[in-house]
Amino acid sequence: MVKLALQMKAQFENVEAVYTPQPEFRYFLKIRCSGCNEESDKWHDVSLSETVALKTGRGNANFAFKCKLCGKDNQMDVLEKSVRKEGWVVEASEGGQKFEEVDLTDGEWVDYDEKLKETVRVFELEFKFIKSK
Ligand SMILES: [Zn+2]
Repeated sequence: MVKLALQMKAQFENVEAVYTPQPEFRYFLKIRCSGCNEESDKWHDVSLSETVALKTGRGNANFAFKCKLCGKDNQMDVLEKSVRKEGWVVEASEGGQKFEEVDLTDGEWVDYDEKLKETVRVFELEFKFIKSK
C-alpha cells in the first residue's frame, strides 16, 4: 500500500498552532485510477469516519471506486491520526485566542485577537501530497 502525506506550508502572523478535524475531516480529492491512470473529473470526499464494504468481499475502505474506463476497483483509506483534532483550529501565539471553524479554503485567513490586540493571520497556504514511508 502506498501511503500519502499531506504537506502544508504557510506564513503565519501571531499564530501558535493550526490543526484540522478528526475523524470527521474530509479530504476533497481528485482521483486517478491506479490501473489505467484515468483521472476522475469530479471531486470525491474521503473521510476516516466513513467506510464502505469492498466489492471483493475482503474488508472495508474509507473510499472505493470502480474505474469507468478499465473497470479496476480502486480503494483508499484515511490513516488514523493523519489529521488532528477538532475543526480547523488556529491558536494565537502568547496565550491569545483560539479560533475554531476556521476556513482555509482560500489559502488565507485573518482575524483580530481582542486579547493580544493583534491581527492573527495565516497566508500563502499551500498543500501538497507526498509519498511517505
Ligand atoms: Zn482505470
